[in-house]
Formats: sequence, structure tokens, C-alpha cells
Amino acid sequence: MHKPKILLIYTGGTIGMVKNPENGALTPFDFDTILERIPELKLLDCEIKTFSFDHPIDSSNMEPKYWVEIAEIIQFNYEETDGFVVLHGSDTMSYSASAMSFIFKNLCKPVIFTGSQLPIGDLRTDAKENLITSIHLASLQANGVSVIQEVGLYFEYKLYRGNRTTKINAEHFEAFDSPNYPYLAESGVRLRVDEKMLLEHSNEGPLQIHRNLVTDIGVLKLFPGISKSILQGVLSSKLFKGLIIETYGAGNATSSDWFIRSLARAIKNGLKVINVTQCIGGSVRMGEYETSSKLKEIGVISGGDMTTEAAVTKLMIMLGMDLSDSEFKKVFESPIRGEITEN
Ligand code: ASP
Repeated sequence: MHKPKILLIYTGGTIGMVKNPENGALTPFDFDTILERIPELKLLDCEIKTFSFDHPIDSSNMEPKYWVEIAEIIQFNYEETDGFVVLHGSDTMSYSASAMSFIFKNLCKPVIFTGSQLPIGDLRTDAKENLITSIHLASLQANGVSVIQEVGLYFEYKLYRGNRTTKINAEHFEAFDSPNYPYLAESGVRLRVDEKMLLEHSNEGPLQIHRNLVTDIGVLKLFPGISKSILQGVLSSKLFKGLIIETYGAGNATSSDWFIRSLARAIKNGLKVINVTQCIGGSVRMGEYETSSKLKEIGVISGGDMTTEAAVTKLMIMLGMDLSDSEFKKVFESPIRGEITEN
């Protein structure tokens, strides 16, 4: 029987930290000693290799160059490895899991992101369960192929599609949610995978990485009283190539003339403007209300039920591709990695 081979990649975050007894500060421990710290890992029916960032980072310092680095580590080890678990701080984990889903083309092995709210050595830690079950999920095979063939995020007994998640709580062990897509697996007395929710991959060749992420983008959260001069100042600077507007409800925004005209001018000048809702769940439906019809008319692109995290990372990737305006809109509004519900 083939024993699945798992690569554990430690990027940083609470999960791999211990309290310094002298000052109580959290500091990363030598990750190569993980098997000694969690002897339970030896009970899993798989071979575990580890790789640690030379300088583990708090995920608030995450950057696209690290996403490409993680992707390259995975690509380098892809052939001889059955599944990957990426240990990552929870703060920006949804961005990284979303980015990773778009960075890869032809991924047909599991890449599971996980982390924890409490460090591994803490008495009440959630790190052990998150880590053990993530490895278990990454090693699941049926007829010699991986059951999960996409980027997932496992936290507090649930596996979610990575690009559907958002961090919702800074304190609870249940720190993530996937408001617009059901979870893919649940860990209880048994580990249940909901196979019909998994992404069906189309393996069209070897694993590929998109390395060109364009970060000249912005996120604008609307609020009553938003300033005309600030918005006009920002848009006329022409620094942005893409702008995500977090709108109200089903994609609604102020219908003030100045707002619509400034956006329309910027779109004419080549800015890609994406509409996502600032509601935690639900979808943008431009045209349903008068307050969103104008946005549709001037060429704002719908982010549908995408999370802001998915929209940000998809925008970075897509701006790095050479697409015409109509292709850009079509691809952005369609699911490419299961990140948006098709209309
Ligand atoms: N600040 C930490 C990080 O995101 C929190 C965590 O690990 O969950 O890196």
C-alpha cells in the first residue's frame, strides 16, 4: 500500500510559536522538531516532510512575493508529494488561500491552509486538531488519486474552499466562515467529505504558476458621507489599475452625479472597477435597484457573491494577464476556481 506523502510548509503565525518564558512574547520554534512536539502525528498513516520559511512571518506581513514562493515550493515537490498543508497565520489566511487558488493552473492535489488561534504549546490550543485533521484531509485518496484537488482552508472542524472564506472572529476558535458556499468537509466522530461540493478539476497538463500579480489596486468601502474631493483625487491620480468598491446590499451605491461621473471617466481611461457587497453574505445584483443600474451602465464589473479577499487576489492575477476589456469582464464574472456562483 502506498503511504501518502505530505509536505508541511510553515510560513509563520501563531500555530508554530511558543511563549518565551522570560517575557511571555510569542516566538517561532524550530519547525523541524514538529514531530517531537506533536507525537500524535506519527499515528497518521502518511509520511510527513517539513519545510519552513527561513524567517517565519506574522501573516500581516504577507505579500504576493511570498505567495509565489509558496507556489514554487509546491511546484518543486509536486510530483513526489500527494498533498500539501500550509501553516499560516489566520489574519490574512483567506487572502493567501484565495491567491493560491488563482495562482495555480491544473492543480489536482490538495493544498490545505490551516493555522490556529492559540500556539501549539498552549494547554487549550486549537493547533493540534487543526494540524492533524488538515494532514489527514490532505492524505485522503480514492483509487490512487487525491480526494481533494483544490485549495482548502481547514479551521475548527470544517474544511472550506479557500477562496470562499473570510476571517470573521479574532477571538473564537471558529475564526472563519464561508458565507456563500457550503463547507467541503466536517470533522466529527468521523471525517465526512461532501464530495459533490468539491471542485472538479480538468487536468489539462502540468501544474503551472501565474507569477505576475499586479498590486496597483485599491479597495474602497462605501459609507454615507463619502467625500467627493477625496474620491476624485484618488481616481484622477491614475495610480490604480483596478478598484474594488464594497457597496451596500445587493451592489448599491450613491447615485449622486459626481460619484457616477468620476467612476465612468476612470473606467473610460482603463480602470477596472469591481463591485462586491460589504454584506457578509449574499450577492451583487446590479440593475435590481435604481442605485445600482447606473453602475452597470457605466461598465462596472460584478463581483457576484465573491468575498473581497477573492476579488482582490483575482484582480491582481487577472491584471497580469493580457485580456481585452470584454474578456476581462467575462472571466471576472465567471467562476475560474469555484470562487463565484454562476448566474
Ligand atoms: N497575527 C497572527 C498571524 O496572522 C495571528 C495568527 O496566527 O492567527 O500571523
